[in-house]
Amino acid sequence: MLIDNHNRKIDYLRLAVTDRCNLRCNYCMPAEGINFADSKDLLSIDELFRLSKVLVGQGIRKIRITGGEPFMRKDLMQLLRRLKTLDELEEISITTNASLIEKHIPELKALGITRINLSLDAIEEPTFNKISRREQFATVYQNLLKLIQEGFDVKVNFIVLDNQNIQDIIPIIERLTKHYQVSVRFLEEMPFNGGSRSFQKIKWNHSKIYEYIASHYGDISKLESEKTSTSVNYRIKGYKGSFGIIPSFTRNFCGSCNRLRVTATGDVITCLYATASKNLRDILRNSPEDRPVENEILAAISNRAKNGFEAEERSTDIYSNSMTSIGG
Ligand code: SAM
Ligand code: SF4
Repeated sequence: MLIDNHNRKIDYLRLAVTDRCNLRCNYCMPAEGINFADSKDLLSIDELFRLSKVLVGQGIRKIRITGGEPFMRKDLMQLLRRLKTLDELEEISITTNASLIEKHIPELKALGITRINLSLDAIEEPTFNKISRREQFATVYQNLLKLIQEGFDVKVNFIVLDNQNIQDIIPIIERLTKHYQVSVRFLEEMPFNGGSRSFQKIKWNHSKIYEYIASHYGDISKLESEKTSTSVNYRIKGYKGSFGIIPSFTRNFCGSCNRLRVTATGDVITCLYATASKNLRDILRNSPEDRPVENEILAAISNRAKNGFEAEERSTDIYSNSMTSIGG
């Protein structure tokens, strides 16, 4: 079992499979993109699988595939098929912008990979295009509806951006949670945008987001959430779905954090606000034995910051990072 130096059990891996993306969301990266990794520096499918197997052996029970845009990787389904053979792995889920997912929906369903977090920061096309700097709204929205119709457990991630998508908050709740069993989660913006813009504070923190939504609805009840959940979840009376708020910048959930991140180039990240502590790529490439890989992971989690604020204090230059390379 993986237990960190603050006695927290780590059983959830967020595994990035690429840093590339077909969108250019302005809160994630600059218009021209970032200095993307060379493909030879990305972990191969064999390496991603081997690492996952080692981590499952150490106690990881859930893996969320992320990126960049995971479906930019043409060989992604090979990895998913292989992950499904790991008996002790209880859940595989994916975070995606859903623009490239359509042709994979039948196989994902057949594999039982039904938990999808889908990023959609607007419900009006011009707002979506402006934020993502691409014109993929219709495809993403159709794929979202298709996933819901096919019975996937879909959570929509909506990053709340001052002066950009505030006017879409109530319409997205109305359009999606009123009629569909879907959860729309509103996230505070974090400063990992590859240098697009810098900020010390955010205007739209979790309480302001809640107050804004609550001022539009009379009857909102709080829902029970898992102990390790990062979102506080609510239901509006009579609505099929729910909404949640994630204080990703305010960071008041770190005490129960059970996550480990590995980037597409093999960096081990023990907190979003931490500098990568180890890199596993060369060890995976040079050592046929798994023990050195296990030891690096144990070393990383034995020196984990207590919370995101301590991680930030200890870190260097994290604000020039983009979420596409950290693996959000
Ligand atoms: N491309 C996929 C997607 O957008 O869902 C997966 C990778 S993306 C980096 C993962 C998540 O990080 C998305 O939900 C995205 O909205 C979120 N994200 C990216 N940059 C962020 C930022 N600066 N602050 C908060 N969330 C961010
Ligand atoms: Fe791509 Fe996701 Fe970043 Fe948007 S948030 S640019 S979809 S990686």
